[in-house]
Amino acid sequence: MKNFEYRKVSTLEEAFHLLEMHGEGASILAGGTDLLVKMRHETLDPEILIDLKGVPGLDEIRYEAPTGLRLGALTLIHALETSPLVKEKFGIVSQAASSLGSYQTRCRATLGGNLCNASPAADMVPALISLGAKAKLSCKSGDRFLPLEDFFSGPGRNSLRPGEILIDIQVPDPSALTGFHYTKHSIRKAMDLAVAGVAVVLSLDPGKDRCSDAKIALGAVGPVPMRALGAENFLRGEKLGEKMIAQAALLSSEEAQPITDIRASSEYRREMIRVLTYRALKKVLENLRPGRTIQ
Ligand SMILES: Cc1cc2nc3c(=O)[nH]c(=O)nc-3n(C[C@H](O)[C@H](O)[C@H](O)COP(=O)(O)OP(=O)(O)OC[C@H]3O[C@@H](n4cnc5c(N)ncnc54)[C@H](O)[C@@H]3O)c2cc1C
Repeated sequence: MKNFEYRKVSTLEEAFHLLEMHGEGASILAGGTDLLVKMRHETLDPEILIDLKGVPGLDEIRYEAPTGLRLGALTLIHALETSPLVKEKFGIVSQAASSLGSYQTRCRATLGGNLCNASPAADMVPALISLGAKAKLSCKSGDRFLPLEDFFSGPGRNSLRPGEILIDIQVPDPSALTGFHYTKHSIRKAMDLAVAGVAVVLSLDPGKDRCSDAKIALGAVGPVPMRALGAENFLRGEKLGEKMIAQAALLSSEEAQPITDIRASSEYRREMIRVLTYRALKKVLENLRPGRTIQ
């Protein structure tokens, strides 16, 4: 690893100033579980690391009705996995968090790092996209907000402009009668990136028959995490039964843009998207309509 300067800042202003001074030579350091691996492999050699862990408030989980949930960029994955508030109101976020890496990794890795690293297989992304999350990005001259699904521009690339830092993620309150589920397939049961991941958020009408809204987000099957918009449109307004969810799962797999790599072939990934979408839709429906068989 090449030599580098390390600065632990205690305010965002300090961080913005250092980013401006060092330009592309600076990297933000959160938990380091992605960054330090890249530095060791010398695919990245920053001249300065700007450690944000000393900035107060960046690791906060806050909920305010009616705006919803705010997750600071430095929130640990383990905190998302275990927070009673997140588990109760936004269970899909805890589910995704508990599927990431190992206990040790989750106790070090942050939400912001998972998003900014922009791996197409990042576990937190499909769950947050399916909830309609927005990212708050700030620099010296102000803030801007971006729908999370527009934050990714390619494998390992995000939409942060020079000098910008991801501050938090804002998740709107789901409407009543909404259920969600994240499921991932990986080669090993633990400590492994997804071969395919699917997050489903479904809302039902008051009679619990028809789908009033559907969001399906796919991970690890395209250059960036993506929505299965065709499958979502197919479900909206319809009575949900076995045939509908099987067809939506097929549509979702047709929309995926998987590649073949060391983890799996593109054909296998596409088939896994069909299977995972079907399972996730079924699970959500079972939870929303307990005791009712899906026909
Ligand atoms: C053994 C192991 C297993 C893993 N398993 C999984 C897995 O199953 N699923 C999965 O999704 N990931 C996995 N990962 C990857 C990694 O742990 C996660 O992506 C993690 O959330 C990254 O967070 P971090 O805080 O460590 O980020 P860092 O490594 O500190 O940063 C990652 C990148 O984001 C930038 N960055 C961080 N925070 C900000 C910010 N606030 N603003 C701007 N830029 C920022 C950094 O400059 C860097 O480029 C694994 C990693 C390891 C080592």
